Amino acid sequence: MDTDSFPAKNKRAAAAERSRAFFRLHCGSDPSFPENGLFRTPRSSSESRLFMKTKKVVEIGGVGEVLLERSRRAKHFNLTIKSVNVIRVAVPPGVSFTDAELFARSKKDWLRKHLEKIEVMAREIEDAVAVYPTNRKAARQVLVCRLNQLSEQLGLPYNKVFVKCQKTRWGSCSMANNINLNVNLVRLPQELMDYAIIHELVHTKIKNHGRQFWELLTHFLPNAAELDRELDRYWVLLGDFPGTEP
Ligand SMILES: [Zn+2]
Repeated sequence: MDTDSFPAKNKRAAAAERSRAFFRLHCGSDPSFPENGLFRTPRSSSESRLFMKTKKVVEIGGVGEVLLERSRRAKHFNLTIKSVNVIRVAVPPGVSFTDAELFARSKKDWLRKHLEKIEVMAREIEDAVAVYPTNRKAARQVLVCRLNQLSEQLGLPYNKVFVKCQKTRWGSCSMANNINLNVNLVRLPQELMDYAIIHELVHTKIKNHGRQFWELLTHFLPNAAELDRELDRYWVLLGDFPGTEP
């Protein structure tokens, strides 16, 4: 047994567990906002349809960019921290972006408090994670090398690979079987990095997350479901890559 790695692993697991509790943090909806009733008078439907933008980004001091996004399903404003770099307000139909921005600004203290907590959690996980390449080029090499190994080993060829710094996902696979990998994958424990890569390789065969997808994935990784949940715990590492460029 590698006793040296044990305390680090436990510390990491505990930090990751706390992070999981924060997973995709919701401030929740707020039917009472704003108290002055600004949005209790929806515009006429023709007007709102005509002027309805689908997205807008606003800058909030001390918080950063906040995405206001039209959502047909939203009944109230719904604020979510998707990653340190992605904060989203779902805006119900017929409600203006001006009101949505006011709502987001009214949540500034809440956002700042939780963004700080997320940063602390990310540092805790980081402290306990093994050493990883400190520049993007080296990180890319590690990921592409592992992708090629696994692709060959499992007999799942892909087309091209791109290593990016996506803000809300670990990877993706296009219809043309081009694979995108998040550079932050190098900061994960090896088994989770492998899981994310194998997940995308399986998408070269099956593009959705249906039964067949999970059957093939568990054929390669019997504990895929567990690893999938485990990966969620590391969401606080999504966002900017802390290493150097290039
Ligand atoms: Zn997938």
